Amino acid sequence: MGAHARNSPSALHRTLNCPPSLVLGEQFQDEESQYAAEGSAGHALAEHLIKKHLKQRTKRPVSDYYSDDLMEAVEDYVAFVIEKIEEAKRECNSPLFSVEQRVDISEYSPDCFGTADMVIVTDKVAHVIDLKLGRGVEVSAEENPQLMAYGLGVLEMVEMLYDIETVRLTIFQPRINNFSTWDITPEALKTWGEEILKPRSAMALAGAGEFQAGSWCRFCKARNQCRARAEEFLRLAKMEFRQPALLSDDEVAEIIKISDELAKWASDVYAYAQDQAIIHGKQWKGYKLVEGRSNRKYSSDDKVAEAAKAAGYTDIYKQTLIGVTEMERLMGKKEFARILGKLVYKPAGKITLVPDTDKREAINTSTAAADFQEE
Ligand code: SF4
Repeated sequence: MGAHARNSPSALHRTLNCPPSLVLGEQFQDEESQYAAEGSAGHALAEHLIKKHLKQRTKRPVSDYYSDDLMEAVEDYVAFVIEKIEEAKRECNSPLFSVEQRVDISEYSPDCFGTADMVIVTDKVAHVIDLKLGRGVEVSAEENPQLMAYGLGVLEMVEMLYDIETVRLTIFQPRINNFSTWDITPEALKTWGEEILKPRSAMALAGAGEFQAGSWCRFCKARNQCRARAEEFLRLAKMEFRQPALLSDDEVAEIIKISDELAKWASDVYAYAQDQAIIHGKQWKGYKLVEGRSNRKYSSDDKVAEAAKAAGYTDIYKQTLIGVTEMERLMGKKEFARILGKLVYKPAGKITLVPDTDKREAINTSTAAADFQEE
């Protein structure tokens, strides 16, 4: 096994929906983002803290990414895992705990392996827990191919020793308060492995199958230049609307549905084109590079203060209260709640239109209209 799986479980949502994206993406360089590096640092810290709780050998990792915000997210996750560990100890005489467990799914997809953040196995339940440190997209555990693949790998490891009746898959995404858990039987999971994962992975590895654009394109290395994605968006953008001159309610709803993805696609292509022009000197017909607008700045705050005071101006500083998050970080959660708890409130959020799959409760439309007019 190499260090990187060719068909990685974390990419399965994309490669199962658009199998040829695997081979198409292989011609592009890996994108090491700052978010991914921060995520790796967070996972390393979580691993250390859980191993410490389990009294296993471990060394505290060091990283420049350890901000208060990241530490808090990791601590929330570790507290959840420890709770599950203690629960498992009460329920089972010989539970299995494994942190950052390497799982092999090659029985279903050659060269498919990955690392499950936490695996807890008791007499009847194999529980796979995945820490997500991103804020951008809320991830659900339900029918999540990455976790299902990990579940298959864990079953392979433990089925000889435990009589598993349930595979439990959990996503813990502390930064957006998302906790999602889903149960599946070993039989149903294996059926998915045989009927979906196996044939679709074979297609993906061979570069076969149909290109299919969707939400999974956001994580595809070919996303900026992919013809299938562009054609899909251009088709939607050129949607032929029926007469009369005004759009019907259904047509407006159709446009709202694609607007988010359409905007993301346009900004991806724009960022790609700008990057090519700035870094590689690429000329795009009808476009040129210019300097962006900028605001005036002091060259030296000290010298400005000195000159202003010398000219007789004394009222040149302003003092402002630090924000809620910064104050909480300064005092720590408990002290913050004790000292300022009664003085902090959460105003109603700005009213916004979202798909009805969104978890938030719908608000009363007459109140919404009144609030909207007040703004
Ligand atoms: S951008 Fe989307 S449609 Fe194109 S190859 Fe990637 S996943 Fe498939």
